[in-house]
Amino acid sequence: MAKIDIGPPDYRKNLHPVIIKNYGQWKFHDYVKPGVLRHVAHSGDMLYSIRAGSPRLVSIDFIRDICDLADEYCGGYLRFTSRNNIEFLTDDETKIEPLIEACEAKGLPVGGTGASLSNIVHTQGWVHCHTPATDASGIVKAVMDDLFEYFKRDDLPARLRVALACCLNMCGAVHCSDIAILGVHRTVPVINHDIIRKGTEIPTLVASCPTGAIRPDPKNKSVVIKDEKCMYCGNCYTMSPGMQIMDPENDGIAILVGGKVSNARSVPMFSRLVIPFLPNNPPRWPETVEAVRNIVETWIKHARKGERVGEWIERIGWERFFTLADIPFSDKCIDDYIFSRETFRTTAAFKY
Ligand code: SF4
Ligand code: SF4
Repeated sequence: MAKIDIGPPDYRKNLHPVIIKNYGQWKFHDYVKPGVLRHVAHSGDMLYSIRAGSPRLVSIDFIRDICDLADEYCGGYLRFTSRNNIEFLTDDETKIEPLIEACEAKGLPVGGTGASLSNIVHTQGWVHCHTPATDASGIVKAVMDDLFEYFKRDDLPARLRVALACCLNMCGAVHCSDIAILGVHRTVPVINHDIIRKGTEIPTLVASCPTGAIRPDPKNKSVVIKDEKCMYCGNCYTMSPGMQIMDPENDGIAILVGGKVSNARSVPMFSRLVIPFLPNNPPRWPETVEAVRNIVETWIKHARKGERVGEWIERIGWERFFTLADIPFSDKCIDDYIFSRETFRTTAAFKY
C-alpha cells in the first residue's frame, strides 16, 4: 500500500529504545527529585524522565528550542504529558543535571512531579474555539504565575491538579481535577434570524439542543427558544452562528473542587461547584487568581499528608470546607441535576 501522510505517525516508531525493549515489562518507578522520575524494568534497565512546564500554546520557535535540548541531552527523545508538561527521556543519569540547567536557562521550570502542582491543563479559550465563556491561556498564565512556587516544591499534602475549560463542554478535564476553573455562560442565546434564515439547517439546529428548548418557527423560517428550558450550554451555537451565546457582561468563571482520576486510596471523584461566578477580568483575572490561591492554601494548611483536595473535603465535610475556605455557600452549589440521585446527601446531618 502506498505510504500516506494522513493522521499521526505510528507511535511505536518514536518510542525510546529502552521503552521498546521493555514494553509492558516495567517493575516500578520512583521519585528522584522534583521533576525527575526513574522507571525501572524487570530486565534492570532504567529510564529517567525529566519534566518541564510548557505554556501549551507554543510557537514553532519554542518547539525547535525543546527539540534542540532533546537532541543535545537525550538522543532526541521527548514527549508531552496530558497536562502539557514536556518530558525529556534519557537512560543516561549523567545527563540529568546538565539538562535541568539547560531547561532553566531557557526559562523552562523543571518540576511538577510528586506532591507538587503539575502544569495546568487548559482548553482553547477566546483564541480558537467557538463557544468559550472565558479565555484559557490568559487565566492559566495568571494563575500559574501566582502558584509557580508549588510547581517546583514537592512538600504539598499530595499531588495537585488544576484544570481550566472555557465552557462546560469541559475539554479540559475539569470534572476530574483537584481545582477546576470553568467558563460559564449565564444567558439564553440571542437569535440572529437573518443568519438562521440564510444558512442553517433548522432540523439539525433543533435536534442539537439537549433540553429541547429550541422549537422551529416556520412562519419566520427561523427558530424560537423556550427560555426556561435553556441551560446556556452553547451547543446550538455549534450548529449555527445565528444562536449567539457570547455575552460580555454575563459570561464568567465558576470554580469547582475535589475531582480526581486516580483510584489510589479512594475511588475517582467528580469535582463539585463551590464558587458559581467570578467575572471575566482580563488580562490578569485577579478574582480567579485569588480564589484558587485561597483554596490551595486552605488545603495545604488543613489536609493530612497524602490527602488530595477531594479526599480532605470528604473527611472534614463540605460544610466545614466552606467555613475554612471562607467561601459563601449559595443555592447554586446544590446539586439539582436530574440524574444526581446517586450523589444526594442522604443523612440528616446537613447544616445548610
Ligand atoms: Fe471550546 Fe468549550 Fe472546549 Fe473551550 S471547553 S475549547 S469553549 S468546546
Ligand atoms: Fe439549548 Fe443549550 Fe442552546 Fe440553550 S444554549 S438553547 S440549552 S442548545
